[in-house]
Amino acid sequence: MAASARVIDGKAVALRLRGLVAARAAALPFRPGLRVVRVGDDPASGIYVRNKDRAALAAGFGSATLHLPSDVPEAALLDLVGELNADPEVDGILVQLPLPPQVRQEAVVDAIDPLKDVDGFHPVNAGLLATRQRSLVPCTPKGVMHLLREAGVPLSGARAVVLGRSQIAGRPMLQLLIDADCTVTAAHSRTRDLPDECRRADILIAAVGRPEMVRGDWITPGAAVIDVGINRRPDGRLVGDVAFAEAVGHAGAITPVPGGVGPMTIACLLENTLDAALRRRGIQG
Ligand code: NAP
Repeated sequence: MAASARVIDGKAVALRLRGLVAARAAALPFRPGLRVVRVGDDPASGIYVRNKDRAALAAGFGSATLHLPSDVPEAALLDLVGELNADPEVDGILVQLPLPPQVRQEAVVDAIDPLKDVDGFHPVNAGLLATRQRSLVPCTPKGVMHLLREAGVPLSGARAVVLGRSQIAGRPMLQLLIDADCTVTAAHSRTRDLPDECRRADILIAAVGRPEMVRGDWITPGAAVIDVGINRRPDGRLVGDVAFAEAVGHAGAITPVPGGVGPMTIACLLENTLDAALRRRGIQG
């Protein structure tokens, strides 16, 4: 029988990180403030936004969700972002994506003060990350790095393959792995032989949004597999981008879906909000 991978418990790692953030926040003479903006009534966005708001409150932050209708004009959303930028009680602004078609996503992201951009999507933060300067790093790839380190996965010199090159997941992931001294391959929809590229990986990060696309025999024995994907099957079941039941017989360590990367994204949002709050006040983190 094939060996079974160690399952990396993202929930437990995220709880520990949230506890550390809450303890640091409790020692401050002010409450870090987060504002989450939700547009429209997409149920998945509703769940994400509620979870973020609850986590922020549980960490002792000031938090509020601002809910706008799905037909909100772009100018009204930009005005709201402007108000939040100017509000001294607000340290972090998160506009839940995706946005409705009448609103240009880039215009909204660009309007957020980079110092309050706790999602790390603003071009200024992307540029700082690309040039190895201190920045607010997108929460999901930041959470993946925490998981790799907590799981004791050796990074320096390791071959890492990242499936997906999106602005929010794959691209910043590539940069963080390069900065951790991995030898990194970016794979995407035009990659010629995806299974072959994956088989070279000591660390395989899947962020494509294709349910169970990565099969067990794409994984080199003992590799660390981090599954960023969150996909809903027609029967309502949540699955990742990796066929977990197959992969667990090949990988050395693997994250489940749910309970892997997802909880880390929220924990890192709190960490970013605390970081933004300290930096805005000139306090060393
Ligand atoms: P995205 O913007 O749609 O990007 C998907 C990437 O995957 C693109 O770079 C695309 O390549 C590549 N791709 C798509 N189909 C492919 C295929 N058949 N073979 C190889 N590459 C393929 O998605 P995203 O926003 O990065 O999200 C990816 C997944 O992560 C989704 O399931 C999403 O729900 C999940 N996610 C989870 C969290 C979390 O908190 N856990 C956070 C963010 C995202 P091209 O560039 O060539 O088109």
